[in-house]
Amino acid sequence: MTGFISNIQRFTIHDGPGIRLTVFFQGCPLSCWWCHNPECIPDFINSNGFTVKEFNEKQLLGEIRKELLFMDESGGGVTFSGGEPLKQPDFLKNMLIACREEEIHTVVDTSGLAAQKIFDSLMDFPDLFLFDLKIIEDILHRKYTGVSNRLILKNLETLNNHNKNVIIRVPLVPGITDTDENISNIIHLLSGLPNLRKINLLPYHAMAESKYIRLNIPYKLSGIKTTDEVRDNKIKEIFLRAGFDTSLGG
Ligand code: SF4
Repeated sequence: MTGFISNIQRFTIHDGPGIRLTVFFQGCPLSCWWCHNPECIPDFINSNGFTVKEFNEKQLLGEIRKELLFMDESGGGVTFSGGEPLKQPDFLKNMLIACREEEIHTVVDTSGLAAQKIFDSLMDFPDLFLFDLKIIEDILHRKYTGVSNRLILKNLETLNNHNKNVIIRVPLVPGITDTDENISNIIHLLSGLPNLRKINLLPYHAMAESKYIRLNIPYKLSGIKTTDEVRDNKIKEIFLRAGFDTSLGG
Protein backbone atom coordinates (compact mmCIF):
# COMPACT_ATOMS: atom_id res chain seq x y z
CA MET A 1 0.00 0.00 0.00
CA THR A 2 1.16 3.56 -0.66
CA GLY A 3 0.36 6.97 0.77
CA PHE A 4 0.59 10.45 -0.70
CA ILE A 5 2.82 12.70 1.36
CA SER A 6 3.30 16.40 0.70
CA ASN A 7 6.23 16.98 3.03
CA ILE A 8 8.33 15.47 5.79
CA GLN A 9 9.74 17.86 8.37
CA ARG A 10 12.55 16.88 10.70
CA PHE A 11 13.25 18.22 14.19
CA THR A 12 9.77 19.61 14.82
CA ILE A 13 9.01 20.61 18.40
CA HIS A 14 5.40 21.79 18.31
CA ASP A 15 3.62 18.67 17.13
CA GLY A 16 3.75 16.57 20.28
CA PRO A 17 6.32 15.72 22.96
CA GLY A 18 10.08 15.83 22.34
CA ILE A 19 11.79 16.17 18.99
CA ARG A 20 9.66 14.74 16.23
CA LEU A 21 9.45 13.87 12.58
CA THR A 22 6.26 15.36 11.14
CA VAL A 23 4.77 13.67 8.10
CA PHE A 24 2.27 15.78 6.17
CA PHE A 25 -0.39 13.70 4.44
CA GLN A 26 -1.83 15.08 1.22
CA GLY A 27 -5.55 15.87 1.06
CA CYS A 28 -7.97 17.49 3.49
CA PRO A 29 -11.79 17.61 3.46
CA LEU A 30 -11.75 21.06 5.06
CA SER A 31 -10.63 24.34 3.54
CA CYS A 32 -10.04 26.62 6.54
CA TRP A 33 -9.53 30.27 5.68
CA TRP A 34 -6.41 30.36 7.88
CA CYS A 35 -4.85 27.07 6.69
CA HIS A 36 -1.05 27.18 6.86
CA ASN A 37 -0.68 24.29 4.44
CA PRO A 38 -3.05 25.07 1.56
CA GLU A 39 -0.88 22.94 -0.73
CA CYS A 40 -2.02 19.93 1.36
CA ILE A 41 -5.75 20.47 0.78
CA PRO A 42 -6.24 18.98 -2.72
CA ASP A 43 -5.90 15.22 -3.05
CA PHE A 44 -3.06 15.72 -5.43
CA ILE A 45 -1.01 18.73 -6.39
CA ASN A 46 2.27 18.97 -8.17
CA SER A 47 2.78 22.52 -9.30
CA ASN A 48 4.07 25.90 -8.27
CA GLY A 49 7.04 24.33 -6.56
CA PHE A 50 4.99 21.99 -4.37
CA THR A 51 5.38 18.29 -5.00
CA VAL A 52 3.64 15.24 -3.64
CA LYS A 53 5.53 12.01 -3.12
CA GLU A 54 4.17 8.52 -3.00
CA PHE A 55 5.63 6.30 -0.26
CA ASN A 56 5.01 2.71 0.63
CA GLU A 57 5.06 1.76 4.32
CA LYS A 58 8.59 0.43 4.19
CA GLN A 59 9.93 3.62 2.60
CA LEU A 60 8.20 5.87 5.10
CA LEU A 61 9.29 3.72 8.01
CA GLY A 62 12.83 4.05 6.66
CA GLU A 63 12.53 7.85 6.84
CA ILE A 64 11.21 7.61 10.39
CA ARG A 65 13.97 5.26 11.51
CA LYS A 66 16.62 7.79 10.42
CA GLU A 67 15.51 10.05 13.29
CA LEU A 68 15.35 7.39 15.99
CA LEU A 69 18.35 8.72 17.89
CA PHE A 70 16.85 12.21 18.34
CA MET A 71 13.42 10.80 19.05
CA ASP A 72 14.67 8.44 21.74
CA GLU A 73 16.88 11.01 23.43
CA SER A 74 14.18 13.68 23.53
CA GLY A 75 11.14 11.51 24.25
CA GLY A 76 9.82 12.36 20.80
CA GLY A 77 8.47 10.32 17.92
CA VAL A 78 6.55 10.74 14.71
CA THR A 79 3.54 12.98 14.07
CA PHE A 80 1.16 12.26 11.22
CA SER A 81 -0.29 15.59 10.15
CA GLY A 82 -1.44 17.18 6.93
CA GLY A 83 -3.75 17.85 5.30
CA GLU A 84 -5.83 15.31 7.11
CA PRO A 85 -4.08 12.01 7.84
CA LEU A 86 -7.42 10.25 8.38
CA LYS A 87 -8.19 10.87 4.71
CA GLN A 88 -5.76 8.03 3.90
CA PRO A 89 -6.97 5.74 6.70
CA ASP A 90 -5.55 2.39 5.62
CA PHE A 91 -2.08 3.75 5.01
CA LEU A 92 -2.22 5.68 8.28
CA LYS A 93 -3.32 2.61 10.21
CA ASN A 94 -0.53 0.51 8.73
CA MET A 95 2.02 3.17 9.67
CA LEU A 96 0.66 3.42 13.21
CA ILE A 97 0.89 -0.35 13.62
CA ALA A 98 4.40 -0.44 12.17
CA CYS A 99 5.53 2.31 14.55
CA ARG A 100 3.94 0.59 17.52
CA GLU A 101 5.81 -2.61 16.68
CA GLU A 102 9.05 -0.61 16.84
CA GLU A 103 7.98 1.27 19.99
CA ILE A 104 8.01 4.63 18.20
CA HIS A 105 5.73 7.20 19.83
CA THR A 106 2.97 8.34 17.48
CA VAL A 107 0.78 11.42 17.30
CA VAL A 108 -2.11 11.97 14.91
CA ASP A 109 -2.77 15.66 14.27
CA THR A 110 -6.34 15.74 12.99
CA SER A 111 -9.23 18.00 12.08
CA GLY A 112 -11.42 15.19 13.45
CA LEU A 113 -13.35 14.91 10.21
CA ALA A 114 -13.68 11.29 9.18
CA ALA A 115 -16.55 8.83 8.94
CA GLN A 116 -17.33 7.40 12.37
CA LYS A 117 -16.47 3.90 11.18
CA ILE A 118 -13.02 5.04 10.10
CA PHE A 119 -12.45 7.00 13.27
CA ASP A 120 -13.50 4.08 15.47
CA SER A 121 -11.22 1.68 13.62
CA LEU A 122 -8.19 3.95 14.10
CA MET A 123 -8.56 5.48 17.52
CA ASP A 124 -6.74 2.75 19.45
CA PHE A 125 -3.48 3.11 17.55
CA PRO A 126 -1.98 6.58 18.15
CA ASP A 127 -0.31 7.35 21.48
CA LEU A 128 -1.73 10.87 21.33
CA PHE A 129 -4.28 12.83 19.31
CA LEU A 130 -3.86 16.52 18.57
CA PHE A 131 -7.48 17.36 17.81
CA ASP A 132 -8.36 20.72 16.26
CA LEU A 133 -11.45 22.39 17.66
CA LYS A 134 -12.21 25.46 15.62
CA ILE A 135 -15.78 26.76 15.75
CA ILE A 136 -18.78 25.37 17.63
CA GLU A 137 -21.59 27.25 15.86
CA ASP A 138 -22.14 25.08 12.79
CA ILE A 139 -23.21 27.85 10.41
CA LEU A 140 -19.95 29.67 11.11
CA HIS A 141 -17.98 26.43 10.92
CA ARG A 142 -19.38 25.82 7.45
CA LYS A 143 -18.56 29.37 6.41
CA TYR A 144 -14.93 29.35 7.55
CA THR A 145 -13.97 25.69 6.93
CA GLY A 146 -16.31 24.64 4.14
CA VAL A 147 -17.84 21.75 6.11
CA SER A 148 -20.21 21.00 8.98
CA ASN A 149 -18.69 20.18 12.36
CA ARG A 150 -21.29 17.52 13.19
CA LEU A 151 -19.01 14.52 12.57
CA ILE A 152 -16.02 16.29 14.11
CA LEU A 153 -17.87 16.81 17.39
CA LYS A 154 -19.16 13.25 17.33
CA ASN A 155 -15.63 11.91 16.92
CA LEU A 156 -14.40 14.14 19.73
CA GLU A 157 -17.11 12.70 21.97
CA THR A 158 -15.93 9.20 21.03
CA LEU A 159 -12.37 10.03 22.13
CA ASN A 160 -13.74 11.34 25.42
CA ASN A 161 -15.91 8.26 25.95
CA HIS A 162 -12.93 5.96 25.38
CA ASN A 163 -10.67 8.09 27.57
CA LYS A 164 -8.06 8.55 24.84
CA ASN A 165 -4.99 10.72 25.23
CA VAL A 166 -5.98 13.98 23.53
CA ILE A 167 -4.73 17.55 23.37
CA ILE A 168 -7.35 19.87 21.93
CA ARG A 169 -5.87 22.57 19.74
CA VAL A 170 -7.80 25.79 19.29
CA PRO A 171 -6.51 28.19 16.62
CA LEU A 172 -7.05 31.76 17.82
CA VAL A 173 -8.01 33.55 14.61
CA PRO A 174 -8.92 37.17 15.43
CA GLY A 175 -12.63 37.83 15.08
CA ILE A 176 -13.36 34.28 13.86
CA THR A 177 -12.40 31.62 16.38
CA ASP A 178 -11.27 33.86 19.25
CA THR A 179 -14.64 35.54 19.84
CA ASP A 180 -16.13 35.55 23.34
CA GLU A 181 -19.05 33.52 22.05
CA ASN A 182 -16.92 30.80 20.45
CA ILE A 183 -14.62 30.49 23.46
CA SER A 184 -17.57 30.19 25.80
CA ASN A 185 -19.20 27.65 23.42
CA ILE A 186 -16.00 25.56 23.46
CA ILE A 187 -15.88 25.61 27.25
CA HIS A 188 -19.55 24.72 27.43
CA LEU A 189 -19.09 21.79 25.02
CA LEU A 190 -16.05 20.49 26.91
CA SER A 191 -17.86 20.70 30.23
CA GLY A 192 -19.82 17.69 28.94
CA LEU A 193 -16.63 15.82 27.95
CA PRO A 194 -14.81 15.44 31.28
CA ASN A 195 -11.93 13.30 30.01
CA LEU A 196 -10.71 16.05 27.67
CA ARG A 197 -8.81 18.50 29.83
CA LYS A 198 -5.71 19.48 27.85
CA ILE A 199 -5.91 22.59 25.68
CA ASN A 200 -3.30 24.09 23.40
CA LEU A 201 -4.17 27.57 22.10
CA LEU A 202 -2.52 28.45 18.81
CA PRO A 203 -1.96 32.17 18.13
CA TYR A 204 -2.74 33.25 14.58
CA HIS A 205 -0.02 34.40 12.24
CA ALA A 206 -0.17 35.20 8.56
CA MET A 207 3.03 33.44 7.52
CA ALA A 208 1.17 31.23 5.05
CA GLU A 209 0.08 34.15 2.88
CA SER A 210 3.09 33.78 0.59
CA LYS A 211 2.12 30.17 -0.13
CA TYR A 212 -1.33 31.33 -1.23
CA ILE A 213 0.29 33.79 -3.61
CA ARG A 214 2.49 31.01 -5.04
CA LEU A 215 -0.51 28.73 -5.45
CA ASN A 216 -2.57 31.55 -6.93
CA ILE A 217 -5.31 31.08 -4.32
CA PRO A 218 -6.90 34.17 -2.77
CA TYR A 219 -5.95 34.55 0.91
CA LYS A 220 -9.26 35.44 2.49
CA LEU A 221 -7.70 36.71 5.72
CA SER A 222 -5.42 39.18 4.00
CA GLY A 223 -5.15 42.33 6.08
CA ILE A 224 -6.41 40.98 9.39
CA LYS A 225 -4.07 41.67 12.24
CA THR A 226 -1.82 38.89 13.43
CA THR A 227 -1.87 37.63 16.95
CA ASP A 228 -3.06 39.87 19.76
CA GLU A 229 -0.95 38.73 22.72
CA VAL A 230 -3.10 40.44 25.34
CA ARG A 231 -6.27 38.87 23.98
CA ASP A 232 -4.63 35.43 23.61
CA ASN A 233 -3.40 35.53 27.21
CA LYS A 234 -6.85 36.55 28.37
CA ILE A 235 -8.30 33.51 26.61
CA LYS A 236 -5.66 31.32 28.23
CA GLU A 237 -6.77 32.66 31.63
CA ILE A 238 -10.39 31.84 30.82
CA PHE A 239 -9.50 28.20 30.05
CA LEU A 240 -7.29 27.94 33.13
CA ARG A 241 -10.05 29.31 35.34
CA ALA A 242 -12.44 26.78 33.82
CA GLY A 243 -10.09 24.04 35.04
CA PHE A 244 -8.25 23.12 31.85
CA ASP A 245 -4.57 22.25 31.62
CA THR A 246 -3.86 25.06 29.13
CA SER A 247 -0.85 26.12 27.09
CA LEU A 248 -0.50 28.98 24.65
CA GLY A 249 1.73 28.72 21.59
CA GLY A 250 2.81 25.98 19.29
S1 SF4 B 1 -8.08 21.15 8.74
FE1 SF4 B 1 -5.95 21.79 8.87
S2 SF4 B 1 -5.03 21.12 6.92
FE2 SF4 B 1 -7.25 21.03 6.67
S3 SF4 B 1 -7.78 23.00 5.74
FE3 SF4 B 1 -8.04 23.22 7.96
S4 SF4 B 1 -6.10 24.03 8.70
FE4 SF4 B 1 -5.73 23.22 6.62
